[in-house]
Amino acid sequence: MTEDDRWDSEFDVVVAGAGGAGLAAAIEAAEAGARTVVFEKQAKIWESSTAINVGMVAFAGTDVQERLGIEDSSELLYQDLLAVGQSKNVPSLVRAYTDHQLDTYHWLTDMGVRWAEVATAAAGMSRPRGHFSDPLDMVRILKREAERRGATVLYHCAVTGLITDSRQRVIGVEMRDRVNETRVRARRGVVLATGGFARSPERLAAIDPRFVGMAATTGVGHTGDALRMAEPLGAVLRDMEYVKPSYELHVSGDSAAEICLVFYLGAIIVNRQGRRFVDESIPYKDIGMASLDQPNGVGVMVFDQKIFDRAVENTRNASSAIPSENVVSGLDAARIRLLVQAETIEELADGIGVPRRELKETVERYNDGVAGGTDTEFGRRHLSASIGDLVKIETPPFYAYEAKSHFLSTYAGLAVDDSMRVLTPAGHIPGLFAAGETIGGFHGASYHSGAAVGQALVFGRIAGRQAAQGL
Ligand SMILES: Cc1cc2nc3c(=O)[nH]c(=O)nc-3n(C[C@H](O)[C@H](O)[C@H](O)COP(=O)(O)OP(=O)(O)OC[C@H]3O[C@@H](n4cnc5c(N)ncnc54)[C@H](O)[C@@H]3O)c2cc1C
Repeated sequence: MTEDDRWDSEFDVVVAGAGGAGLAAAIEAAEAGARTVVFEKQAKIWESSTAINVGMVAFAGTDVQERLGIEDSSELLYQDLLAVGQSKNVPSLVRAYTDHQLDTYHWLTDMGVRWAEVATAAAGMSRPRGHFSDPLDMVRILKREAERRGATVLYHCAVTGLITDSRQRVIGVEMRDRVNETRVRARRGVVLATGGFARSPERLAAIDPRFVGMAATTGVGHTGDALRMAEPLGAVLRDMEYVKPSYELHVSGDSAAEICLVFYLGAIIVNRQGRRFVDESIPYKDIGMASLDQPNGVGVMVFDQKIFDRAVENTRNASSAIPSENVVSGLDAARIRLLVQAETIEELADGIGVPRRELKETVERYNDGVAGGTDTEFGRRHLSASIGDLVKIETPPFYAYEAKSHFLSTYAGLAVDDSMRVLTPAGHIPGLFAAGETIGGFHGASYHSGAAVGQALVFGRIAGRQAAQGL
């Protein structure tokens, strides 16, 4: 293939994927003066993971936190990201995120993204820093801003291949729309922002046979296309060994509306034998792995009226700015309908089909531990990561939320440098950039809540700027 060969259309920057990373890349590329096109495989704006996620983004040092009296900083966020990633993450990528996260928060706010007046504590956080906005609204705003700067966003257009020149530089893509296969030239660069591979059974099975048949709640386009296209060019993959499902989805559920993180407010999690099996304050991805070894893969959150009241209050506080179904740290009417409720722990055990004596002993043991200041079974010290004091489960009525693990993300993939260039063992693939869930190396061994949408936006912006320079 040479640059003289026939092209069906020509742009400076071609972006694959119209989720958070792709649209952020398009805004920056267009802003830098590049003629930019975004190709989206799915037909509708609401089909990306960014559009359907629950809307929590990890930012540190914001005005919302200041008004709530929370002291936080980029440096604390950096330390937390490395700690939760067990230092398996690439420090320069983590630094690139923490250096640009606050600027990205302001960038979004200036474009019209509205934030709820709450900062929630979730996985991996030493400060409450989960900021909530309406995710679909955010995607609409990003698309509008990309188009306002002159970018073209086209749906039902799948990028199916990368075209290289004789020096292995990526100079264009193959794209399939409803009717045709076309060749689209990218004069300066291609950005892969196609999301993860939670809907690629082959790739999941190759990582862990227990992942076969598990539910996926990601955008339906998450079939690992970027990896499939870049690997033949020598792209290196990172973090594949850390791919984990998330524990949090109701056993009957298949969307974010049935995700519930009430264990970060103090619930314990028991298996079908009525026994705890994990420290409930650890990241939900690690709980997800632990739950795979439990009977039927089920873990039941067990809590009392005090915790119930806090969860309802969380929903009330956040729902001025975001749909109540997105408040995963709370309980809305739909989640409350999924609860099993009872006046005593024994009746609750009957309701969820676990042995009465086991569940009663489990709760008593946990409460004794809380009273004595130590969870003797699993060493839980806080509600979530290093935040919040443990609370006894003692105030009736009692509640149970039966949940399982599912894939809402994969968080592993193409190795990139901090300019988002796709790396090979010998260097990088010229003309090729990647951002968002399609990359590996940022999260490391586990997951800090809110950092996935965060990195899609922060790294998407970097990828767009770099691609526009044609480096
Ligand atoms: C239910 C749920 C809840 C979540 N909650 C949170 C949360 O609260 N906080 C958080 O930080 N993260 C959360 N996540 C994860 C987070 O939403 C994603 O990791 C992040 O949005 C990924 O952004 P992205 O731009 O990489 O991918 P996406 O937003 O999915 O965009 C990728 C796009 O590429 C398209 N595509 C795929 N292949 C092709 C191709 N060949 N050609 C063209 N287009 C293609 C896809 O259709 C998709 O639209 C959640 C995810 C889910 C599913």
